[in-house]
Amino acid sequence: MYQILDGKKLRNKIIKEIETSETGKGKTLGVISVGNNKASQTYIKNKERSCEKTSIGFKRFNLLESASKKELLSLISELNNNNQISGFILQLPLPDKLKKFQNEFISAINPKKDADGFHPFNIGSVIASQKLEDVVMVPATSKGIIRLLDEYNVEYVSKRVVVVGRSNIVGKPIAIMMINRGATVTVCNSKTKNLSAITRHADILIVAVGKEKLITADMVKSGVVIVDVGMNRNINGKIVGDVDFDNVKEKASFITPVPGGVGPMTVVSLLENIIKTSNS
Ligand code: NAP
Repeated sequence: MYQILDGKKLRNKIIKEIETSETGKGKTLGVISVGNNKASQTYIKNKERSCEKTSIGFKRFNLLESASKKELLSLISELNNNNQISGFILQLPLPDKLKKFQNEFISAINPKKDADGFHPFNIGSVIASQKLEDVVMVPATSKGIIRLLDEYNVEYVSKRVVVVGRSNIVGKPIAIMMINRGATVTVCNSKTKNLSAITRHADILIVAVGKEKLITADMVKSGVVIVDVGMNRNINGKIVGDVDFDNVKEKASFITPVPGGVGPMTVVSLLENIIKTSNS
C-alpha cells in the first residue's frame, strides 16, 4: 500500500509557521518574467498567492517577449541594486531567442539575491557543503524534495538513488544533495542506454525530465519511493508528471502526486530563501 508524499499539505503547514512567526516581515520576493508563457503565468500566480498568505511582499517585473539580452541584463542589475527587493527569480523558460543566454542571466544575479538558488556560487556551495544551513541560497526544488522526504522519514543512507535528468536546476543539485546525505547515486540523461535496467534498481527514483509517462510500472521495483518533478500538460490540458502515476503507485511505498507534490515544495523553499536574506 503506497503513501502519498503530500507537498500541498506540508506547504500549508510551513506557510502557517512563516505567517505565525512573522519571519517574512519586511522581505519582498521579485519575479522577472519575459513574454507570456501560459504555464509560467500559473506558476507566478502560485508564488504570489503563497507570498500573500505570509508577510512576504511580492513584486513582478514584466518584459515583453521581444525584450533584448541587454534589457534583461539591465533589469537584473537594477534588481541586484534595489534594496526594496530581498531576492528575486528569473521565471523560466525564457523566449527562444534568449534561451541560449540563460546561464549568463543566472550568473548576473547577485548570489545573495538568487532566490531560486541557481547561481553557480550557490550550486558550488551545495557541492562543497554538507549542511544546507551553510548555503546562501539553496536550489529551491531540490531543497523542497529533501524537506518533503524528511517529513515522511524516508532514509537516504546506503540507499540507491536514481535521478533521471541532469539539468543544472533540478537533476544535478538533487543528485549532489543525495550524495551529501550518504546515498549511492546514479544520474541518467537522454543518452542513457536501457534506462529501465537502471531505474529498476532504485530504492528512491527522482524524475526530472518533462516527458509524460516516461516512467512506467515495469521500470520500477516494488517498494520504491517515487519523486516526480516533471510538469507536463497532457492532451486534455491537465497537468501531469513524468511518471505513469495510476499504474506506478501500486508498486511504490511513497509517491508524489502531480500536481500537489514537488511544485508546492519548490514555492515554499523560495520563501524560505527570501526569509534568509538580510536586505542589506
Ligand atoms: P531540462 O533542463 O529540459 O532537463 C531535462 C533533462 O532530462 C535533461 O538532462 C535531459 O537529458 C533529460 N532527458 C530527456 N529525455 C530523457 C530520456 N528519455 N531519458 C532520460 N533522461 C532524459 O528540464 P528541467 O528544467 O530540469 O525540468 C524537468 C521537468 O521538471 C520539467 O517538466 C519541468 O517543468 C519540471 N520542473 C518542475 C519543478 C517543480 O517545482 N515541480 C521545478 C523545475 C522543473 P540531456 O541532458 O541529455 O538532454
